[in-house]
Amino acid sequence: MKRFVASLLVLLLSIAALSSQEQKRLAVQYSTFDALSAGLYDTNFEIGQLRQYGDSGLGTFENLDGEMILLDGSFFQIKADGNAFAVSDSVKTPFANVCIFKQDIEIPIKKDMTFTEIKNEIMNSLPSKNAIYAIRIEGRFKTMTTRSVPAQETPFLPLADVLKQQQKIRKVLRMRGDIVGFYFPPMMKGICIENIHMHFIAADKKSGGHVLDFVIEVGNIRIGEMKEFLLLMPQTETFRKLDFKAASKAGESAMKSEADTKLPKADEKKAVK
Ligand SMILES: [Zn+2]
Repeated sequence: MKRFVASLLVLLLSIAALSSQEQKRLAVQYSTFDALSAGLYDTNFEIGQLRQYGDSGLGTFENLDGEMILLDGSFFQIKADGNAFAVSDSVKTPFANVCIFKQDIEIPIKKDMTFTEIKNEIMNSLPSKNAIYAIRIEGRFKTMTTRSVPAQETPFLPLADVLKQQQKIRKVLRMRGDIVGFYFPPMMKGICIENIHMHFIAADKKSGGHVLDFVIEVGNIRIGEMKEFLLLMPQTETFRKLDFKAASKAGESAMKSEADTKLPKADEKKAVK
């Protein structure tokens, strides 16, 4: 009986812990954008450690080996060629954002809308530009342009240089899928990726990447406000010794590389039905 009461107590406590975290609306991040931009792709942090904090998220992997998306509790790795794979909890990440997704706002998409139009729609619907928001978009896309990056070797190049020299861009036509994204306010620049950042995975979970552009024809946008932010500080020597003044410049260069990315025209042959 005692054992039963004890296990019941443990069960109730864990339910209470999870529900209080849901109520908290907690956005959790491992490492900082400036650290990643400066080339801190080394890590000792396993993605399994993020499970307790969320079912929805994005990031990258050890050695910058592709893009990460966490969708409904499953982690996927999208390699440089755009192909996606389910990954185990023991895989490591040098940068990630996760949360338990809770929806406050839903916006149906009933006509063709570009990436820019969707971003404007989201920005116009945010109750405050100074809060953090988790974003989910599900739908059918006329075009989807994503990028991913290949694994790096030491000495690591800064993120801006990897993007300029090695990012692989892929544009596909007619594809259903899901986007996980976040909006972080400008005041969190340096720590977080400011403004809207999104990763995509196809409905068949076989491809995806960091979203650069799209046209969506039907679907919906869901947005949930986060009320707390938890930064998990990397326990690595590289992080502890990093010159964050220089890293801040690396962060700005990475944002510029992203903004300067030239988007390809549609290649019908690569279309996925
Ligand atoms: Zn990304």
